[in-house]
Amino acid sequence: MERVLFRCVECNADASELHRDYSNGILKISICGSCHKPVDKYIEYDPVIILIDAILCKTQAFRHILFNTKINIHWKLCVFCLLCEAYLRWSRLQGSEQSADPADIIRYTTEWEFYGMFSLATLELAVFLGGVLAFLWLFRRHQGSNLELQLLLKALLLSCYAKLLLIPAIIWEHDYSPLCFALIRLFVLTSNSQAIRVTLNSSRRLSVLAVFVGLLLEIFAAQVFRTLLWTQQNSLQLW
Ligand SMILES: [Zn+2]
Repeated sequence: MERVLFRCVECNADASELHRDYSNGILKISICGSCHKPVDKYIEYDPVIILIDAILCKTQAFRHILFNTKINIHWKLCVFCLLCEAYLRWSRLQGSEQSADPADIIRYTTEWEFYGMFSLATLELAVFLGGVLAFLWLFRRHQGSNLELQLLLKALLLSCYAKLLLIPAIIWEHDYSPLCFALIRLFVLTSNSQAIRVTLNSSRRLSVLAVFVGLLLEIFAAQVFRTLLWTQQNSLQLW
C-alpha cells in the first residue's frame, strides 16, 4: 500500500500521518518528531481561518494547503482569474474608445476584443510562469538538485487567487481603482513569492528574485504583444 507523505507545517519535515485514529473513535493530532509541535494544526481549524492565514501569507497555511490537502482547483482558478483580468482590460478599452461608428458597435456585440484580451492575459501569464520556472530550474540545476515543476506550477497558480479581488474592484469602480489594481498586483506577486519559498523551502531572496525575473519577462512580452497589435492595426487601416 502506498504511503502518503505529508509535511509538518512548522518545520517542513516529512510526516507519515496528520492524525492517529485510536479505538473508541478517539482521534489525536500527530506530533512532529523534528520540532515536537503538531504536524498540521490546521486540520482542526475552520476553512475561513485557514483562508485568512493564507491571505496573511503565513508559511504554515501555505504548507497546509500545498502539502497536506488534495486541493485540485488550480486550473479552474487560473481560468477564472484570467476571465476577471480579461474583463478588466476589456472594460478599460471600452471606456477609452467612445465611437459612434456602426462597425465598432458590431465589434462590441461580437465581443471579439474580450477574447483578444483573454488571449493576451493568458500569454502574459504563460510568460510569467515560464520565466519563473525556467529561472528556478536553472538555479536548482546549478545546485545539482531537481525541481518539482508540477507542484511549483500548482503553487504558483493557486497563489494567484488574489486576482479574484479584481471582481469587487471592477464592480465598485471609483477614482482610486488604478491604485487598487496596483495593490492587487503587488499582493499577487507577494503571494507568488511566498508560494515559491514554501514549495522549495528556499530563502526569501531567491523567491523574490524569481518573481522579479518573471515580472520583467512579462512586462517585456506585454510590450512586444502591444507593438505587434499596433503594427497589425495600422497595416489593416492602410489597406
Ligand atoms: Zn515539525
